[in-house]
Amino acid sequence: MVSRVIPVDVFDLVVFGATGDLSRRKILPGLFHRFSVGQMPAEARIIGAARSDMTDAAFRDTLRQSLIEHAPQIAGDSDLLERFLGQIHYVCVDATGDKGWERLAQLMRPEAVRAFYLSVAPSLFGNIAARLTAHGIATPQSRIVVEKPFGHDLATAKALNADLRRSFEEHQIYRIDHYLGKETVQNLMALRFANALWEPLWNATHIDHVQITVAESLGVQGRGEYYDRSGAMRDMVQNHLMQLLCLTAMEPPSKFQPSSVRDEKLKVIEALEPVAQSNIVRGRYRGQNGTGGYLDHVGNPKSRTESFVALKVNIGNWRWAGTPFYLRTGKKLRARTSEIAVVFRDPPHMIFPDMANRRGNAMIIRLQPDEGITLRNTIKEPGPGGFRLAEVNLDMTFADLLEEHSEPQDAYERLIMDVIRGDQTLFMRGDEVEAAWAWADPIIDGWEDAALAPAPYDPGSSGPEDALMLLHRDGRRWREIG
Ligand code: NAP
Repeated sequence: MVSRVIPVDVFDLVVFGATGDLSRRKILPGLFHRFSVGQMPAEARIIGAARSDMTDAAFRDTLRQSLIEHAPQIAGDSDLLERFLGQIHYVCVDATGDKGWERLAQLMRPEAVRAFYLSVAPSLFGNIAARLTAHGIATPQSRIVVEKPFGHDLATAKALNADLRRSFEEHQIYRIDHYLGKETVQNLMALRFANALWEPLWNATHIDHVQITVAESLGVQGRGEYYDRSGAMRDMVQNHLMQLLCLTAMEPPSKFQPSSVRDEKLKVIEALEPVAQSNIVRGRYRGQNGTGGYLDHVGNPKSRTESFVALKVNIGNWRWAGTPFYLRTGKKLRARTSEIAVVFRDPPHMIFPDMANRRGNAMIIRLQPDEGITLRNTIKEPGPGGFRLAEVNLDMTFADLLEEHSEPQDAYERLIMDVIRGDQTLFMRGDEVEAAWAWADPIIDGWEDAALAPAPYDPGSSGPEDALMLLHRDGRRWREIG
């Protein structure tokens, strides 16, 4: 299968925070990929903006090194690399002062699509948005992209929304969640809404439960101080896992367009039932031989923040009543893996005795590693050795479906091209983010009131014992991590 590349319109993309970690590792290498496949027009420009004082040439030099490190497959082509660098500019701006804004205004071209990517701390969003409009840099057609975390709770999310909306309309604001840029996540929508096969089965009558797992093998070392202020619930569940839940559970939208898709996601969040503390397990990883535990990594012996959380979530609507969604995410687990497992009910009458209560059918939507979708079926074991049953997987690994030389697209590069095209479908709307915080806040407040420390778990495990019990007591089992 060949992936088609449709060039986007000519753009001026200003990346605020261009000297930062995210820009160097993801945003600029992603744009380089789009350039290498011909999607970025030769007249398009990327303008790096940050506090450091540098010339265009000095910024290009540092960027050259980043691209060699983070896009090694294509940065070896020095002609390609230099042509891309030729489209890069740099402006030193102070988000909280006057420096650099006039120069930025002079660089912008009237005919180009204007997009502003705010890869900076959220405390700077309002400052930058206000200066973009005050200096006439942002027009009513411009787009502004903001990174996570979008708020720490409902109140801060509302304040961020208000800050942005003072300068931009909602249709100009792109709240990025890179999980939505993943091939598999978009394929979940294609699978559900482009096939007649699944929709009749996609409900509580046929689906026993859903498991959503986002497991990481690394700990929080290096960003412990930041992480300790948020924890697994704020860092992962309120945003990434919530988005995966929404796409799995939402009603078919009437059109594949931003407002229809986002309306349906919002309805799911609003239908989430409050979660009792008895349906939540929090954990944090231990060290080994007295070092390397969560508390060592965050440097705060009094911390009560979780590095793992598992929840049983019920969606109070006709489609899902009686079908729980189990969510879990954590650091320092057995493997780095993310998946949605939709587990179907047993046939109503089982004629094969050894198959009772096996829940043989499941659809596994893998986000990482090896993005793809697997369908678990039960068949007769091939051969003449009697009538025995076996489970087989129908496997759609997307890498196998692409032609050998087709470039797989990173989530960031896909989403940035959507911004240039003006397509908000895969971005979170302000009301969605606020609804997700309105659901998460009481859960988090419950922990603060109870003053409970998270349960310890071993690095390389599947999380605390109690997380296994969360499913066992319902007669179910988590899928193995990894
Ligand atoms: P970072 O490495 O600390 O970089 C911050 C950037 O902001 C730098 O380019 C810095 O410029 C610039 N900056 C700081 N204060 C400024 C000011 N007053 N005026 C203009 N520029 C200013 O941060 P990061 O890791 O790239 O993260 C950026 C944002 O993305 C954060 O909101 C973060 O939460 C989010 N995020 C990051 C990741 C990740 O993997 N890193 C993942 C998801 C979300 P100078 O260096 O020139 O001072």
